[in-house]
Amino acid sequence: MEMDSLKELYQEVILDHSKHPRNFGKPESCDHEAHGYNPLCGDTVNVYVSLKQDGTVLGDLAFDGKGCAISLASASLMTEILKGKTTEEARALFEQFQGLVTGKSETLDAGEETERLMVLAGVKAFPMRVKCATLPWHALQSALDGNNEATTE
Ligand code: ZN
Repeated sequence: MEMDSLKELYQEVILDHSKHPRNFGKPESCDHEAHGYNPLCGDTVNVYVSLKQDGTVLGDLAFDGKGCAISLASASLMTEILKGKTTEEARALFEQFQGLVTGKSETLDAGEETERLMVLAGVKAFPMRVKCATLPWHALQSALDGNNEATTE
């Protein structure tokens, strides 16, 4: 595929997820939650996690909040991709994702499903936007660590 059409496809995916976020809304109950805030852009996100299998697997994952298209799309994709993954896989993927959006690595080697995160790789050209993309991931990490607040600062 040509770069331009690839870019368009990526933009479409981001727009779709930001307009119709998946797993959006506070669940009736959850095991962990954390509030994330990105002061640079004003994005806020709450991440809700329910664990299963003795706390090792992400059973349910949801979010709500307000923010730019990048932060919403990143949260939406994150919840879709990490549901059913182990907490270790989630942490490992966060590191890889951070490498990707900061330009430290070119690809993710975390399987077919996670290639969908490549749509967000374009933010590496916009340092301000990197924090929009990683905010929901920081919030998830905080939730898993038992902290209720996360910030991109
Ligand atoms: Zn933002």
